[in-house]
Amino acid sequence: MAAHPAPNTATNSETHGVDLAYSRCKDLGMRLSRQRRMVLELLWDERDHLSARDIFERLNAKGRNIGHTSVYQNLEALQSAGVIECLDRANGRLYGYRSDPHSHITCLDSGAIQDLDVELPAELLDQIEKQTGYRIENYTLNLSGRRLKP
Ligand SMILES: [Zn+2]
Repeated sequence: MAAHPAPNTATNSETHGVDLAYSRCKDLGMRLSRQRRMVLELLWDERDHLSARDIFERLNAKGRNIGHTSVYQNLEALQSAGVIECLDRANGRLYGYRSDPHSHITCLDSGAIQDLDVELPAELLDQIEKQTGYRIENYTLNLSGRRLKP
């Protein structure tokens, strides 16, 4: 008798938890130094897109003893290994906790960037594949706008 698949009850913290990032680092043979854990933990707590300076300042505001260079080097190592995301923006790089393909919406008033999961309709993807001759494997959309007045 075919059972229905169990509903997905995993919470966001279980599926995207910082422990997952730790084990990805281990799988990649990356050393999990105290500083590296601090950086990962902060990114997973804040769930935002932050510059190296933001991350440095927030860690120090929490009384964590870590140098700016160490923050920067850890972020670069983690992003080049694909453990964290990195956005190249006009005013510098921003780092985020998610490494799976996802889209963003940027507020034109505040500059705040929000993660967004959008799925393009299959017909549109088909059309793009026909136009370009490429098989689409993943995509990210960059949207921008202003908050609707309530
Ligand atoms: Zn993001």
